[in-house]
Amino acid sequence: MTPLEGALWLVAHGFPVFPCDHPGTDRCSGVGRGHNPATCEERGKHPAVPFTRAYTSDPQQVRQTFARPRNVGVAIGATLGPDDTQLLVVDSDEPGAIEAAAAKLGHQHEPTMRVTTAKGHHDYYWAPRSMKLGNGLGSLRGKFDGDIRAGNAYVIGPGSVHRSGAVYELEEPEAPPVYAPQWLLDALRAPAVPPRPRRPYMGPPTGKTSPLVRLVSYVAEATTNRNNRLYWAACRAFEHARTSGEPDAGIAQALLDAGRHTGLSEAECRSTIRSAYQRTAR
Ligand SMILES: [Zn+2]
Repeated sequence: MTPLEGALWLVAHGFPVFPCDHPGTDRCSGVGRGHNPATCEERGKHPAVPFTRAYTSDPQQVRQTFARPRNVGVAIGATLGPDDTQLLVVDSDEPGAIEAAAAKLGHQHEPTMRVTTAKGHHDYYWAPRSMKLGNGLGSLRGKFDGDIRAGNAYVIGPGSVHRSGAVYELEEPEAPPVYAPQWLLDALRAPAVPPRPRRPYMGPPTGKTSPLVRLVSYVAEATTNRNNRLYWAACRAFEHARTSGEPDAGIAQALLDAGRHTGLSEAECRSTIRSAYQRTAR
């Protein structure tokens, strides 16, 4: 499936789409505020239009838009499901993540429309429109390795190409989304866990050489530009590990702890550290 074919399939099945950056182009076509297309490292994911407004369900417009290399974004908030429902996408960061989370809560995963991604999969469900959904994990927090996409959100759709070269694929084109199972709705309805108080910072791990210690402190002491500082420090730390031949085991955890200490979420820290790791691995 190409992005155009994926987009045509999506609009034919009631999912409005919009163009996103395609990793095969020279530079990112993302339009986000503060985003620099020339230095973008997260290729293939960024909306090329203001997606909360500039989506379409018109096949003709889809053909024009995706005549150029563009990935497909699914405009989640603009998707209207049957019986007054909204779209809810469960984004598993590894295969089997939502199945494992369901089991931890004493339930079984409900098979539904699924798109495999580079790392895991997207499960598409219908949820009552009256339910306020966003990115909150509710009681899945800590039990689920992934994200919830609903409301003002998007996912990269089938036919799109990940920067690794993997193609997002519809697992079973004839399987439409099913209604989200009650256990999942209950889990997401659970009151958001109040932001954790800043965790006491236990200091850098022992046995590490001083450059890493300094980098971890630099992150932990951040009160502004926390994410940028984490990214910068993580790049330096991984570079240091590579040039010095020291094992990088423990570096990511130390940086994660330091990032969490500043109030960044675990998901934010992980994503930033992963980007730094991938950047320095090249
Ligand atoms: Zn970008």
